[in-house]
Amino acid sequence: MNTQKQDMALEIEDLSVEYRTGGGIVRALNSLELSIKRGTALGLVGETGAGKTTAGLAILRLIPHPGVITGGSIRLHGADLLEKTEKQMRSVRGKEVSMIFQDPMTSLNPVRTVEEQIAEAIRQHEKAGRAEALGRAREMLEMVGIPAVRGREYPHQFSGGMKQRVVIAIALSCTPQLLIADEPTTALDVTIQAQVLEMMKELRRKYRMSMLMITHDLGIVADICDEVSIIYAGHVVEHGTLEDVYRNPLHPYTVGLFNSLPNMADRTAKLKPIKGLMPDPSDLPPGCAFCPRCDRAADVCRTRQPPRVHRNAEHYVCCHLYEDKPFQEVSKDG
Ligand code: SF4
Repeated sequence: MNTQKQDMALEIEDLSVEYRTGGGIVRALNSLELSIKRGTALGLVGETGAGKTTAGLAILRLIPHPGVITGGSIRLHGADLLEKTEKQMRSVRGKEVSMIFQDPMTSLNPVRTVEEQIAEAIRQHEKAGRAEALGRAREMLEMVGIPAVRGREYPHQFSGGMKQRVVIAIALSCTPQLLIADEPTTALDVTIQAQVLEMMKELRRKYRMSMLMITHDLGIVADICDEVSIIYAGHVVEHGTLEDVYRNPLHPYTVGLFNSLPNMADRTAKLKPIKGLMPDPSDLPPGCAFCPRCDRAADVCRTRQPPRVHRNAEHYVCCHLYEDKPFQEVSKDG
């Protein structure tokens, strides 16, 4: 194994997921490629329906019925998760990889105290007695900014932001190597969002965790991530370091995402949303999936899937615009 491979926390290659429904085959992920270097945070950005949550669930092998993983590999620190048995996966979930969802109530049990729920997560993966686990649960609460005495309360006694802090405490209770956060602050007020994000940043640094931040919000990615992958119709269309992608976005979809952000320098400027809608995943176009919405589409885009073209070792784009052209020239024109 070479040094570069050893430095990877997560490597997803050529991953495809389908939902086989009575109405046809919904292609949720199409040859997805993702990689996260150990101890770094990757932002996975795209619109609703792009396949972001499916990617997170696939890593945990929790794709709901009638979804199936039809090909590819998911390696966590070199070990292929698709080759593990269900019993082995149960010890991966929560211990090696944890996932935080948008709505904290999907992860909390309304009839158990919050300290019992954190303690239970600890006891699932570690040989700890009840008293020891409860003691650690109270420490975890303090760590996420909740006084330990409140551990005896039930989820309904907490505000939305506090509930999400409890979920984060549960997710971090066994110090996972990889944390998947799926729109973790979308359901929260803006000021609470900022507090929760700041806390996640600190905890990630403290535990040197790798993180996959799933979001539609480029501002959150700028705040918390090292690299970014832009996903469209279940496929990564552009990837690079934050600096590469934010300074020099290449894919017309990435450019559209940036253009649809409010312009803080000119508050009178109109937002420019990307026209059209994401294609029906049960009837994807044969060529580039973005083609029906792209102002720069050419004939080749309608029939042939675009190749991946590298601008540098990290930054790549999947778009016919950059095929067989030196990058400098295309960037200037584009
Ligand atoms: Fe647009 Fe063609 Fe590039 Fe797709 S491949 S984004 S249609 S220019």
